[in-house]
Amino acid sequence: MTTSSFDEKRCEAISENIKLIREKISASAIKSGRNYEDIKLMAVTKTVPVEYINYSIDNCGIDLIGENKVQEFLSKKDELHLDGVEKHLIGHLQTNKVKKIVPLVDMIQSVDSLHLAEEISKQAVNNNLNMQILLEVNIGNEESKTGFQKSKFFEVMSQISELPMVTVNGIMTIPPICDDEKELRKYFTTMSQYFYDIKEKNYKNFNMEILSMGMSGDYELAIECGANLVRIGSLIYGARIYK
Ligand SMILES: *Cc1c(COP(=O)(O)O)cnc(C)c1O
Repeated sequence: MTTSSFDEKRCEAISENIKLIREKISASAIKSGRNYEDIKLMAVTKTVPVEYINYSIDNCGIDLIGENKVQEFLSKKDELHLDGVEKHLIGHLQTNKVKKIVPLVDMIQSVDSLHLAEEISKQAVNNNLNMQILLEVNIGNEESKTGFQKSKFFEVMSQISELPMVTVNGIMTIPPICDDEKELRKYFTTMSQYFYDIKEKNYKNFNMEILSMGMSGDYELAIECGANLVRIGSLIYGARIYK
């Protein structure tokens, strides 16, 4: 590493953090009748400098990363050690950026409108690739948040299932910020219910495998409620510094 700001201490912390998170994932998985292997750990890399992302990939077995912004991912990707690493977009995606991102990521987790799904389909067809997506649910029906409102969500499903070169692999959510574990559990459990309801309907081009929920503050609870992909940023890399 040549970067002068590279901090060995921060690397040690990243290793420790990931080790601890894995132990906790394992414990939560067992509580919900599953195993560590059933849960995917995503490292959320927004605002994290490339050298620390690479450290976690090279030394800590991170094989799934999530970025929020198309522009940020584009500026980092050439320096990232992405061999064998799955890349997901997890942030709100504007339709005018779909063309850029579709050829570069393995999954778009933040599909929050029929219009966006249609544009992804169009670009997937243009690139002759199948795009995997998750449908983002605004589980708290919050005005300020992206994601399908619960009512809308079930309306568009059959239309999305008709889109060429798109596979719906599951659903994701960011629940409302709340300190009340009971309330949070309710959101996660509702998501879990949706996941199984949709799965049972056997929509065309749906392959319901992923229930993406749980972040630094609530991933253990999310796993207990059925999550099988958790998206963790600050607990791995430290508090984010926005420039
Ligand atoms: C930032 C972000 C995360 C990770 O948040 P932490 O609290 O730092 O773990 C997960 N999911 C999405 C969609 C995010 O934007």
